[in-house]
Amino acid sequence: MYQEVHTHNIAERAYAPEVADLLRRFERSARGNPGGAPFEDFSTELLSFCSRDIMIMAPAEGDYVYEHFGRDIARNVGGDRTGARVSGMSPNVSRFTITCYDQVLASGKPLYSIHRAVKTVRVSLWERLVLPTTSADGERRLIVFSKPMHFHEELLKTVLDTSPAGIVALRAVRDEEGNIDRTVIITANRRAAAMAGHAEDTLVDSEGRRALPFLADDTVWRRCLYVMELRRGDMLETCHTIEGREIWLQIALAPLGDGLVMTLTDISELKLANLTLQSRAATLALEIGKERATRRALSHELGQREEREQELRRLAETDPLTTLLNRRSLTEKANAEIASAAASGDETSLFIIDLDHFKQVNDSHGHAAGDAVIRAFADLLLGQMRPGQDLVGRLGGEEFAVLLPHTGADEAHRIAERLHASLRRTHLPVSETLDLQVTASIGIATRHHDEDFNAFVARADKQLYRAKNEGRNCIRSAGDEIAAAA
Ligand code: GH3
Ligand code: MG
Ligand code: MG
Repeated sequence: MYQEVHTHNIAERAYAPEVADLLRRFERSARGNPGGAPFEDFSTELLSFCSRDIMIMAPAEGDYVYEHFGRDIARNVGGDRTGARVSGMSPNVSRFTITCYDQVLASGKPLYSIHRAVKTVRVSLWERLVLPTTSADGERRLIVFSKPMHFHEELLKTVLDTSPAGIVALRAVRDEEGNIDRTVIITANRRAAAMAGHAEDTLVDSEGRRALPFLADDTVWRRCLYVMELRRGDMLETCHTIEGREIWLQIALAPLGDGLVMTLTDISELKLANLTLQSRAATLALEIGKERATRRALSHELGQREEREQELRRLAETDPLTTLLNRRSLTEKANAEIASAAASGDETSLFIIDLDHFKQVNDSHGHAAGDAVIRAFADLLLGQMRPGQDLVGRLGGEEFAVLLPHTGADEAHRIAERLHASLRRTHLPVSETLDLQVTASIGIATRHHDEDFNAFVARADKQLYRAKNEGRNCIRSAGDEIAAAA
């Protein structure tokens, strides 16, 4: 059981304003009397102005009898107890009460207490001021001021006054058929008045839909009607404009008696923040999309440029008619190959090949047929050489060169003979109706130590010249020239 007992600073602690006044009267009356106030005068004085809130208690064998029981107290506890004893109450309350009363009689001093009464429904806390008296014949009595603390109502008022939410209670006014005709505001807090754009205290007793701008909206009003008729809570969001400012409200609706209570929360800032956030997200998504497209376009462009550059490099390196290496790139690659072969100590050989009596092909079949022969011979040449090893190039006209890395004179000779044999067997396609057989002369050289490419080519060229002079359609190499000389 909740209880508090105080013998000091009573006036400051007391809740009912009467307590301070009663204490003052007691002190004046009890001055110089150790047994408290003189009963006859003091009780007459108190009964004259607050008899409804006081009890007069007479001690009786460790208990107390109610000699007077105030009317308001009787109303709050549900009955008059005059003549009854304190011990008739619930054990907890009566024990507490008797202890307090005993203490007052013993000390001759006032006592103030607060306790929770378990049985009463409406009032949960009681405050009491217990004052000692002594009558002329020496009998002791207590005068007890007792008042319920209307705690819940007080709590409600405080909550209403300090709540950051607007709170409005409406009572339904019904027509003769029992339909809700309108509503009347029975309570509204300061915050609700501000949200509705009204001064404080002007809302109470006014008509709900007229006083509260957000009820003007038909949808909101219909939902209020449902709450009152179906007696079921609801929650909604709505927007209205006050003095040019847009206000977003979240409204919780709950039935209350024949009416409803609405709790209003201003969510305007939340809405605004949300909108800003949404628009930012949209802008961001747009930017990201744009950036992605730009990046895609850029990477496409880079890819295309890379392809173009590769194509240009290839074109710069190749002979357009045959797609073999042209003279310049053959020279470059051959120089690099020679450098690496020299480092490894391997031998390198070289063919210079020229088609025999080619002028006659042009003269007999035309320049285009000549081109076709050159192309077909290039294909055959490439097919006979070792892929990934030999470098095959066109030096110009119907003259070709092949660099054979890691290849000595004997092997080079064998390869040249194989080429010759293959050429002998082959009819080179010129057009759909024409193919031709051609012969070629081949000069071979195998590189001397420290010989540069130009000198190397010149020696192979010299052997080609020999081959032409010695009847064409044959192979000549520096080695067999030396052997012949020997
Ligand atoms: P040889 O056996 O002495 O080499 O006799 P040849 O007729 O082949 O004489 P030469 O090598 O001196 O002449 C080559 C001819 O090839 C000259 C030119 O008309 C022709 N020619 C050069 N370049 C091309 C070309 O790109 N296309 C065609 N169709 N003919 C070419
Ligand atoms: Mg020729
Ligand atoms: Mg020639």
